[in-house]
Amino acid sequence: MHEIVLKTNGLSKKYGRSVVLNEVDMTVYQGDIYALIGKNGAGKTTIMRVITGLSVKSGGFFELFPNERRSSSFDKKRLGCLIGGPAFFKNMTAYQNLKYYAIQKGITDSKQIDTALELMGLNLTGRKKYSGFSLGMKQRLGIALALLDNPDLLILDEPINGLDPIGISDMRDTFKRLNSELGITIIVSSHILTELYAIANRFLFIDNGRVLKEITKQELDLECKRCIVVKTNDTKSAAVVLEKELDISNYTVINNCEINVYSKNISAEDLSKALFENGIGISGIYESGLSLEDYFKRLVEVR
Ligand code: ADP
Repeated sequence: MHEIVLKTNGLSKKYGRSVVLNEVDMTVYQGDIYALIGKNGAGKTTIMRVITGLSVKSGGFFELFPNERRSSSFDKKRLGCLIGGPAFFKNMTAYQNLKYYAIQKGITDSKQIDTALELMGLNLTGRKKYSGFSLGMKQRLGIALALLDNPDLLILDEPINGLDPIGISDMRDTFKRLNSELGITIIVSSHILTELYAIANRFLFIDNGRVLKEITKQELDLECKRCIVVKTNDTKSAAVVLEKELDISNYTVINNCEINVYSKNISAEDLSKALFENGIGISGIYESGLSLEDYFKRLVEVR
């Protein structure tokens, strides 16, 4: 089991009499891409604000990097966040904007600016001013700022809001790279649940400040009965390809004309390619089961 990066216990937040976080228990492990899912006003941003010290909790506890805490002073550099839009100077370039913040943070090595810009694909923006940036570039600069201190944990509130499909797809690749190549743990919120499903390995569903469920992707897939359905007349040969070529044993054959594949390690696209390359005729291939959005709606409805 990976180490705990964040643990909250009965975390609560009130604004006046209004309870906006009600005894939230959540655990984030090192290497997670942890998705916060809830309607508007559910409390996602408040969780992020409390954890990052932008808001003060009203009750309960939270611990960051509990296994590595040196004395009582937690090293804030381990945390990078994008919550709301950072204030960037319109008439400055990406580099100049990050330089401004680097000075404030006491970062003297300008390589850290170059690295953050490179990680977010902004290293070739040259003399282009912030005022001429697309929304995607602005979001990327916000994340580059969050990355300046080489954080271990990145907290991103709605980072793909308003992006076009290509911007969203680029961002998806970036998150996966930051997570898998640099080992950065990510907590992220979004209303685009298909995206969250594509990147996250654990999910927290929250409604009216209360946790409805915390669940891993594997558990979610099981509950949603998610699988890839392959329609083929040659189920026997297809099964051989699954077992021998793809090392997949978690599947069921139905009526000799359909195979349901439950493996989490292959996409419908790759599966169809592998079957095609092995000369197996397919009349259809599709993903089946409840989507993350269906699941969330059911969770909210049953309350
Ligand atoms: P989400 O991010 O899930 O949309 P938020 O965490 O932003 O939800 O908000 C949760 C609730 O807290 C909402 O009802 C919101 O109106 C309330 N809230 C957030 N910030 C404040 C504040 N500064 N003062 C009073 N209420 C607030």
